[in-house]
Amino acid sequence: MLSWVLNPLGISLPSKTPLGAKFDNRRSCMLSAAQQAHTVPQSSAPTFASLGRPCLIRKEDYADIVKAWPSERSTLPFVYHDAYNVTIFGIEKLHPFDSCKFSKVVDKLNAQGLLSYQTHEEKKQKHTPQMAEPLMATHEALLNVHTPKYIDAIHSSNMKVVQVTELPPLLILPPPLLQRQVVNPMKYHAAGTMLAAALAIERGWSINLGGGMHHAYANDGMGWCMFDDVHLAIRRLRTATNGAVKKVLYIDLDVHQGNGVSRDKLAFKDEDLIIVDVFNGGIFPKDEDAWPAINISVPLRSGARDAEYLKAVRQALEDATQWSQPDLVFYNAGTDVLEGDPLGRFNISPSAIQQRDQMVFEHALHVAKAPIVMTLSGGYAPQSSDVISASLSNLIRLFQLNAMPGSSA
Ligand SMILES: [Zn+2]
Repeated sequence: MLSWVLNPLGISLPSKTPLGAKFDNRRSCMLSAAQQAHTVPQSSAPTFASLGRPCLIRKEDYADIVKAWPSERSTLPFVYHDAYNVTIFGIEKLHPFDSCKFSKVVDKLNAQGLLSYQTHEEKKQKHTPQMAEPLMATHEALLNVHTPKYIDAIHSSNMKVVQVTELPPLLILPPPLLQRQVVNPMKYHAAGTMLAAALAIERGWSINLGGGMHHAYANDGMGWCMFDDVHLAIRRLRTATNGAVKKVLYIDLDVHQGNGVSRDKLAFKDEDLIIVDVFNGGIFPKDEDAWPAINISVPLRSGARDAEYLKAVRQALEDATQWSQPDLVFYNAGTDVLEGDPLGRFNISPSAIQQRDQMVFEHALHVAKAPIVMTLSGGYAPQSSDVISASLSNLIRLFQLNAMPGSSA
């Protein structure tokens, strides 16, 4: 008897595949039972879940990144660890970066009943984690992008950490404490992005509630960005899929030019990484050496407002269609474009940021027809966590991102 499966274009196709598995024509990929729960056609509208290709991921390649691979039936592809939040006895407050915004975002989503992340104690009791939790990235994992010289400097020199974080008072901390309170959190962020990228291929979407350290590159870090989690995630993903995931459309809408990602694209001669960057051209880092790597570069003026900004983002996404069929959309969703941000110097409203994020997700689903992974990146104003959680709430509601496989939510 014929069964039916949706292809990525939304057309119902007959499938004779036995054993309860179904076949994705475009990707030559078997869909899991949990995936089928999403792909059995209840309506013709495409969903991110229908873009997932679980068979492409060699999960053992992530054994150093996650303790056990997140179950499709009990864990949503939101990635987070409490260790993302940096606290250094108040010293962290000397930098405008709200280094605990990540936990605030989780708390706000939790308060709305959209996620139910449990503390370690609660997890032990209930055994029902609903977010994926990364391990800390190892030295070896970081060396997939970074030079041994840089990794050694990060681990042996307070000065290097000060340079990256722009926090001179850190110089006086005992090195072991500095490693534990500052460097280790960055390693969790990096591992989180690596895990999120893999989950995006498996499930069709994933959001790391951290990450997006787009100023870091192989030889160095800057602007509170220690590790190039973007290239770490993409390079591992290409290996873990035997090259099935190749072309990546990277959309960087943080207010700062993503110079680290661009520099590493040049260093690795990565022509399959398509970079779209809309940023404030009048602020840090003004890295001209990185510009040749950007496929669509849109530097805007300080003071840009909603209409001008959204028009620029819309045009950049349209222009990106000249690179057809990416295997993954990587969205670096910095919220430092927000009005009042102490570093960004744009005047973008919370509502426009919500529209922007929605626009990128719609582009991935309907135009690129590719899985999407999102990182939070910069966002320095005190209200950043409110803006992020409001936008995530909108995405969750619009794209049914908190629906567990097989549920009708
Ligand atoms: Zn930024």
